Amino acid sequence: MKGRIAELLASRKQLVRQMPDPAIILPGSLLHRMVRCHKPGCRFCEKGKGPGHGPICILSVSLGNRKVRQVPIPNERLSEVEEGLRAFAQTRKLLKQIAQINVDLLKERKRQRQ
Ligand SMILES: [Zn+2]
Repeated sequence: MKGRIAELLASRKQLVRQMPDPAIILPGSLLHRMVRCHKPGCRFCEKGKGPGHGPICILSVSLGNRKVRQVPIPNERLSEVEEGLRAFAQTRKLLKQIAQINVDLLKERKRQRQ
């Protein structure tokens, strides 16, 4: 059916239009945690009794092989980092959907030839 192909092409076009700017994407996830500074006499970090500093925000990025890279994120960068993470998740989701449509298109075009 020609209609089905047109439908798939239209969905694909729409998905491509929703693609975020790839220039801003960031991998990983955000953690909030207290940290100890190890400065002698710090009242926040005393002998493991104090609460530590923070919470500070950390971007945790898996490097594979069970290795993780942790990047502290200053508050003024937080919203831009969150936007990058959202853009990455969105890009992944859209790529999967577009790839699936392309598989469906192959199948549909083959079927129409028979
Ligand atoms: Zn401290």
